Amino acid sequence: MTSTPANKTHRVGFVSLGCPKATVDSEHILTQLRAEGYDIVSSYEGADLVVVNTCGFIDAAVEESLDAIGEALDENGKVIVTGCLGAKGDIVKQTHPNVLAVTGPHATDEVMQAIHQHLPAKHDPFIDLVPPQGIRLTPRHYAYLKISEGCNHRCTFCIIPSLRGDLVSRPVNDVLLEAERLAASGVKELLVVSQDTSAYGVDVKYRTEFYNGMPVKTRMTELCEALSQFGIWVRLHYVYPYPHVNEIIPLMAEGKILPYLDIPFQHASPKILKAMKRPASSENTMKRIKQWREICPDITIRSTFIAGFPGETEEDFQQLLDFLDEAQLDRVGCFAYSDVDGAKANELDGAVPEEVKQERVARFMEKQAGISANKLKRNIGKIRDVIIDVIDDEEKMIVARTSSDAPDIDGLVYIEMPENNHYKVGDITQVTITDTDEYDMWAELQ
Ligand code: SF4
Repeated sequence: MTSTPANKTHRVGFVSLGCPKATVDSEHILTQLRAEGYDIVSSYEGADLVVVNTCGFIDAAVEESLDAIGEALDENGKVIVTGCLGAKGDIVKQTHPNVLAVTGPHATDEVMQAIHQHLPAKHDPFIDLVPPQGIRLTPRHYAYLKISEGCNHRCTFCIIPSLRGDLVSRPVNDVLLEAERLAASGVKELLVVSQDTSAYGVDVKYRTEFYNGMPVKTRMTELCEALSQFGIWVRLHYVYPYPHVNEIIPLMAEGKILPYLDIPFQHASPKILKAMKRPASSENTMKRIKQWREICPDITIRSTFIAGFPGETEEDFQQLLDFLDEAQLDRVGCFAYSDVDGAKANELDGAVPEEVKQERVARFMEKQAGISANKLKRNIGKIRDVIIDVIDDEEKMIVARTSSDAPDIDGLVYIEMPENNHYKVGDITQVTITDTDEYDMWAELQ
């Protein structure tokens, strides 16, 4: 066990695993730690204690999280566990009985309590150490903005509601204040995340709050409108195709928020969508997509799908392929269904054999690769705005993204670096697209 002299700042190591929502939790804990005068260190040896923020979504993530906890215990010995795995019964304590404390996700206060217990905070907190925008784990030029926690739906393949509970929306004035600070600190792109962005405010009956003396409703449309005042890119993730989503498409057409909708459709067969208990499964999705494109022809629609859900017949799968042909979605991911411990879908009849699932994923991806290649080709010769993610001095290359591409999940734009390069990460500039493949593009600076 490492001891800390009374006059020395406590040092906390941090391991952050999991999805963007877990990253936001990590950022909140790190911000609080810095606010209270703790030092954040990057090695186990240098730390007085280690916090591991875990993921418990699929079996592979559970294993990765348990391994990370084991490693932190071996290397340091004092470990506090937080995150989704912490909410999954006794699994952490059973596997690693020596951890100091275990909390679920979204539990900054409980984590801080456990830290106070094992590393009492200094009497005089160094509030000034905290930059006003807090501590972020994502690069400086983009940041995740979490607007709510939990979910009111009960999709049969998902255990998030049992891990994170029902929807709890953050007050809209808090969200806007965070966005304002992020913009002031140099962030150029906000990625709005939640489990169900279109449900924002349902739990508080769309309550009106006040931001800078102006009334704003806790509701997706009003939030988007208000976020547009910061003059930076705003990108929406995890939106469901409810009728009121139509209200935000004009904001996209007017350039107030990015013309980008991340909508996890998951399937196209009504029978499978019903078995999945998907939100808005009875909506006429194709009709909505057509309406959105009429209002905002430049809209990029991204989605994810599951192939091989229990009961999926060849006919159901064919419906999904036909939907892809008709919908011509821009950015698409597909996963083979796999049982998640505790999910209702595990009890459904009609399990699809593993090789059939894999074969369906391959057929799906082949079809989408053709659609994506054709759609990207239409960019050749066009001028597009891009945000710069990487300046690679060694390869003499600038790596950027268009407004159609979210960081980490979508495509990239490769640009040859000019002589005497003056561009920097986070700059937004214009390029002419010169070449494309299935997912990425190449361009010249304007
Ligand atoms: S909408 Fe469905 S998949 Fe998404 S978090 Fe809620 S229950 Fe899970």
